[in-house]
Amino acid sequence: MIVESAPDRWAELAGEILASEYRLEAELVPLPGENRNFLVSTADGERSVLKIATEESAIGALELEHAVLEHVAGSGLDIAIPRTITTVSGEAVVRWPMSDGSARLARLSRVVDGVSWCDSARAGPELLRELGRMLALLDVELARLSHPAAERTHPWDLSAASRHRPSVARVPDPGCRRDLECAFHLWAACAAPRLPDLPSSIIHGDANDENLMVANDHIVGLLDFGDCLLNPTVSDLAIALVYAMLELDDPLEAGALVVGAYDDVRPLETAELDVLFPLICGRLAASVAVAAERRHEDPDRSEWFVTEERAWRLLRALVGFEPAEARAVLAASTGAAVERDAGAAPRELLEKRKVHIGSSLSIAYAEPLKMVRGEGQYLHASSGRPYLDLVNNVCHVGHCHPRVVEAGQRQMARLNTNTRYLYDGLTEYAERLTATLPEPLRVCFFVNSGSEANELALRLARTHTGRRDVVVLEGAYHGHTGNLIAISPYKFEGRGGTGVPEPWVHVAPMPDGYRGRHRGTDRTTGEAYGEEVGRVISEAAAPTGAFITESLLSCAGQIVPPEGFLETAFRYVRDAGGLCIVDEVQVGFGRPGACFWGFELQNVVPDVVVMGKPIGNGHPLSAVVTTADVARSFDNGMEFFSTFGGNPVSCAIGLAVLDVVEEEGLQANALRIGGRLLAGLRQLEADHPLIGDVRGTGLFIGVELVRNRNTLEPAAEQAAEIVERMKGRGMLLSTDGPLHNVLKIKPPMVITAADVDMVVRSLGDELSALEALT
Ligand code: PMP
Repeated sequence: MIVESAPDRWAELAGEILASEYRLEAELVPLPGENRNFLVSTADGERSVLKIATEESAIGALELEHAVLEHVAGSGLDIAIPRTITTVSGEAVVRWPMSDGSARLARLSRVVDGVSWCDSARAGPELLRELGRMLALLDVELARLSHPAAERTHPWDLSAASRHRPSVARVPDPGCRRDLECAFHLWAACAAPRLPDLPSSIIHGDANDENLMVANDHIVGLLDFGDCLLNPTVSDLAIALVYAMLELDDPLEAGALVVGAYDDVRPLETAELDVLFPLICGRLAASVAVAAERRHEDPDRSEWFVTEERAWRLLRALVGFEPAEARAVLAASTGAAVERDAGAAPRELLEKRKVHIGSSLSIAYAEPLKMVRGEGQYLHASSGRPYLDLVNNVCHVGHCHPRVVEAGQRQMARLNTNTRYLYDGLTEYAERLTATLPEPLRVCFFVNSGSEANELALRLARTHTGRRDVVVLEGAYHGHTGNLIAISPYKFEGRGGTGVPEPWVHVAPMPDGYRGRHRGTDRTTGEAYGEEVGRVISEAAAPTGAFITESLLSCAGQIVPPEGFLETAFRYVRDAGGLCIVDEVQVGFGRPGACFWGFELQNVVPDVVVMGKPIGNGHPLSAVVTTADVARSFDNGMEFFSTFGGNPVSCAIGLAVLDVVEEEGLQANALRIGGRLLAGLRQLEADHPLIGDVRGTGLFIGVELVRNRNTLEPAAEQAAEIVERMKGRGMLLSTDGPLHNVLKIKPPMVITAADVDMVVRSLGDELSALEALT
């Protein structure tokens, strides 16, 4: 906390310190910048800079700065730096007690001659190369130094740039907000995950255009080592590049000169080149975000905004480049191989697909995306652009989770066989999986897809009850086989469908408290929908063998059935002698946040639970878990066998998924981050008439768009438009529900607060834009 903020009080303090500790009588001029710095001019023409720090805790930082300066000075590096002038008693740092018991710290250093880079003539190629060389030499030197105070962070720590993301909201212009969001997103998805594995060292951390001193077309000095800290070494280069590229017509071409010269001295690793452009964008984003925050605090402090306009111009230019292209340009004159997507261009793939792949297979987006890599909650397209995956619940613990990948690879290299042999994985996995379920759900069958699992669940129920008839919910989807299409109104009532295809299928109303026949979210509504299931059972010509439902309705439009629904429905089913099958293919494994399985929200225990999608994090694995009683009925002499189901590789992967969910606390993350997202979306609902309903639990969320909140006229076109617009911002959404007007959100469970905050801000801006059009 700065107690005395009046500049003259600081000048007075500076004068006292100079007189008492340095025996200097001098003229003091406050210097622009973030620190309390004064230019000190004595009568004999000597000039120096006095820096005063406000907090006792800054002692570590000042000691670090001093150590770095001494190290650089002793290294033989041909560059002037601000050498420390010691006090008359030989101290490098003054500790100055204040009357209130606190202390100030001060350090005096020699002025470095020259003109700052920003005040010198426009940088030519030679100077750019010199910058690269100088910085690499400095980084090589600094890599030899270690200091306990270097393990710190501060507002300009590029490895923690996301701390400034909330300030996006302070930017008034929606176009600027979009560019800024894009820059932060690139940093978060393409740089942040890689940083811990990069070479790290103490860096200068602020080789900006005010700190670089130029004379006679050469770099002669480097100022301000106050931002030194331990960081990925390449951060130093990224930061310098930002300022070197400001106001240049071809910023990347110019940047490439710096990078090439840097690489000649300190060869860059491929991974460092991969993060360079995202780091540049991150630094620019931090710079303009800080300016936006400060403008909010004090719009009149012009010294805070020296770089702002130029930084915005560069940021705007850079986010316009495809990141893969930017990487290639920046790395053009380095020794490292340029990693480009070697496969076909997206359009070419699309043409081939038209020939060889059935056209009933849909493809997302007007301009389809070619994905080349997945990591965590992000997919990376061939353009190098990252996409936040908001819809894929299959890559539950994150795309290509290293632990899951490793488990599969290890087992694949050791043994893969089938369930006719004994091996540890099968029973170990069955034990672990059933431990997540209530009694008496203890017997597993493993197959390879949600459809296979639902087929098997139907067979189990039919064998056990000796009955064929099935009750399903409107809007439901349970799989792509013949039997399952017959119990999937989402398909047979949808495009290309021809209504209820089989006499043994009976459809009960969807428990949709927003637009269904009973409205509300309370228990009475839930029970009313349960009664509907009872009615359908009693009206069917044949006795019911099974009732199948998702615990949370996905394709039906991301619906959370009101409390009491399954309790009531199950009572009717069981009273009629049927079995209750719960399809957890979409929502299980902790996604509901409050519980591991969706059915637990409804206070029921099913007879059969069907699992798929997230169970193998993308590996084709699914399971049916039932009671010993039902399993016994199924053992009627006919062997059950699935060639791949439950093989050792699948079991190893399934186990790894359970481990990760548990060890990374992903169910708790779903509750926390899902809650944050729901709260943000509900705030949007208050401001945007297009939103009719926001619903969900954990990381299972739906946003229903309507043209009119009274008539509930669906806004399907707008929903589709939002999906396209969000894609343009690097976020993957899709629509669902029989009216195609629900935005579905069910991301990998590793999604972060920063991600969902971006989603809410971006969705808000796009809704405003759409609303302005109508
Ligand atoms: N059940 C539900 C609820 C589903 O959403 C799906 C797939 N979307 C399935 C079953 C079928 O799973 P799969 O595609 O793995 O056969």
